[in-house]
Amino acid sequence: MKLAARVGQVPPSITLAITAKGKAMKAEGIDVCSFSAGEPDFNTPDHIVAAAKKALDEGKTRYGPAAGEPGLRSAIAHKLKTENGLDYAAENIAVTNGGKQSLFNLMLASIETGDEVIIPSPYWLSYPEMVKLAEGTPVIVPTTVETGYKITPEQLDKAITPKTKLFVLNSPSNPTGMVYTPDEIRALAEVVVARDIWVVSDEIYEKLLYDGAEHLSIGAASSEAFARTIVSGGFAKAYSMTGWRVGYLAGPVDLIKATITIQSHSTSNVCTFAQYGAIEALESPKSPDYIETMRQAFDRRRQVMFDRLNAIPGLSAPQPQGAFYLYIDISKMGMKSVEFCNQLLTEYHVAAIPGMAFGTDDCIRFSYATDLESVEKGMDRLEKFARSIVGNG
Ligand code: PLP
Repeated sequence: MKLAARVGQVPPSITLAITAKGKAMKAEGIDVCSFSAGEPDFNTPDHIVAAAKKALDEGKTRYGPAAGEPGLRSAIAHKLKTENGLDYAAENIAVTNGGKQSLFNLMLASIETGDEVIIPSPYWLSYPEMVKLAEGTPVIVPTTVETGYKITPEQLDKAITPKTKLFVLNSPSNPTGMVYTPDEIRALAEVVVARDIWVVSDEIYEKLLYDGAEHLSIGAASSEAFARTIVSGGFAKAYSMTGWRVGYLAGPVDLIKATITIQSHSTSNVCTFAQYGAIEALESPKSPDYIETMRQAFDRRRQVMFDRLNAIPGLSAPQPQGAFYLYIDISKMGMKSVEFCNQLLTEYHVAAIPGMAFGTDDCIRFSYATDLESVEKGMDRLEKFARSIVGNG
């Protein structure tokens, strides 16, 4: 079959090949330290699992509204109002199959051919592909380690053209682990308002913050910013619910209605009983303790991984303050990210994601969503590899 041109514009995932190779090596019995995971290594908390089981027992197994269960839409609106200072009602919320579908629906509902979408790099790998699938034009704005891989208001202002529709902001960031300070968010909000563009704020890692870092949703920066903000979030990272596929999009009613129409003709509602697990996640008094325990475990691993990295000649990374990733500069290693990750996996049995997937070929991403013992072992191996290239620095 002659495939549609839109498919040809989207490359197959670079990360899949390396992930598959790592898995195959593990299956052969090789002791691979895997730092490639984009998900917490914790199980979904029992109280959330119990709520979904109860929903199953109660027969919550049928089609539901495409927009989501009313109770979940209200619970999400309440969360956004009380935790994030965003004045949403249930009608401003669409429940989606993960944060991924919420962003994809948004692109389909808002982007027309040729519309430009500003994406700072390094970026989460799906953003540009979603824009292209919606026939928009991703405008990649490279950031540097000097600004903590964060786009500056000047850079944003300069990237805006009459065709700019949307700016994609992700804090805490995948892949860099950087968190914009409230002042930095407010400064970006001023540009968004002054230049009258839209911003989608991907806040899926908002609960995973370290060293006292604060999360401010750009929609809470001012009422003018709120009017131009769409928020994407989900349950995957904060509640270890990656496989449940529950996320949400929040924004103006007409836009949310349009995304629900799209969803009603593609996937329909999110798995009904999974949504009852999500309600429990938001409403149970047990959830904050669970999140805090997981956050502390990530924090400990983050410090160990970061300290170990600092002692390795030729490698460096800014200290992450959010999510569960360390973004490592390999520019002194004499090879690009895919080759580096391939060698690291084949010869040293450590799996990582090449920065090429995130738009920066001189970096690699290590996830610390894995146990401390593997962190120590994997960093020993990385150190050996780096020293084999640059000597003892
Ligand atoms: N946004 C970012 C930055 C992510 O890293 C991810 C998942 O890795 C998502 C959105 C989508 O998450 P999900 O669809 O699992 O809710």
